Amino acid sequence: MPRYNSVIDAIGNTPLIRLAKASELTGCEIYGKAEFMNPGQSVKDRAALFIIRDAEAKGLLQPGGTIVEGTAGNTGIGLAMVADALGYKTVIVIPETQSQEKKDALRLWCAELIEVPAVPYKNPNNYVKLSGRLAEQLASSVPGGAIWANQFDNTANRDGHVVTTAEEIWHQTDGQVDGFICAVGTGGTLAGTAMGLKRRSGHIKIGIADPMGAALHSFYTSGTFASEGSSITEGIGQGRITANLEGFTPDFAYQIPDEEALPIVFDLIGDEGLCLGGSSGVNIAGAIRMAREMGPGHTIVTILCDYGNRYQSKLFNPDFLREKSLPVPAWLERKPTISV
Ligand code: PMP
Repeated sequence: MPRYNSVIDAIGNTPLIRLAKASELTGCEIYGKAEFMNPGQSVKDRAALFIIRDAEAKGLLQPGGTIVEGTAGNTGIGLAMVADALGYKTVIVIPETQSQEKKDALRLWCAELIEVPAVPYKNPNNYVKLSGRLAEQLASSVPGGAIWANQFDNTANRDGHVVTTAEEIWHQTDGQVDGFICAVGTGGTLAGTAMGLKRRSGHIKIGIADPMGAALHSFYTSGTFASEGSSITEGIGQGRITANLEGFTPDFAYQIPDEEALPIVFDLIGDEGLCLGGSSGVNIAGAIRMAREMGPGHTIVTILCDYGNRYQSKLFNPDFLREKSLPVPAWLERKPTISV
């Protein structure tokens, strides 16, 4: 095992874990990149680190300065963790609909949290736009100034995946990877990993797994933005081409309903010992569809974005699932069978 100088060095270099059931179902080798093993427990640690290092390199971030961001939670956790380690402060604007566990984690990592109503991107009070305005205000009023991380349109996010995620996957598969697929929040993970892998080999196919309520599936299949339905998954679901997605085109595009993604998340716990968040279910469902379309014998990699305990109060809460008319797995309501 390596020896690190700080928690920052522990970001990335996550293992690939073979997903047995998905592989057996399709005759392919399907692997999940265990991003929940990052020190901030999600794929977004990589973007957080690259965004902060890029701002430092450009001279935008002064010692003791403040990083402001609008985030569904995981980017904020990554930013707060890296900021703590490097002596910066964080102010995080989060839609109040996000899980309590992510808000608790943000406070634990010393972020100042501003909870706002969840409104669409076109509304000026959308959390992303609010965070941009707040960063501008704070830039001249707090010691060390403030920057806006701007994860959606800051391509330092994508660069992190070109340089790290894609290279790691290439080496971990000994260059034998045939396909990569994941969902989009900012698009940094998908577009960055795709760019890096395509640079290594033009034959690698790229897929997007879009949750219901997002508009990218429609855009990439018909050229127009349209969305229907909704999803309880967090951190994914995009309605526009962010700067991170510019220049990116997938080879395959799938729309994954929660009814398809959530049983995968539930079964993975008891069957394979993997406890993951909802977006990982969308990703694995996408990998299964892509494997079926590509045919047996291929190696396909997807992202296991974060750990299930970040959603205990929602995804693993029978009352919440019933409220959303989603199936409740039997083991969640299991009564004790042994008495002592
Ligand atoms: N899954 C989860 C749980 C996330 O928090 C995010 C980021 N918001 C994503 C997937 C999507 O990653 P990206 O922003 O790189 O598209």
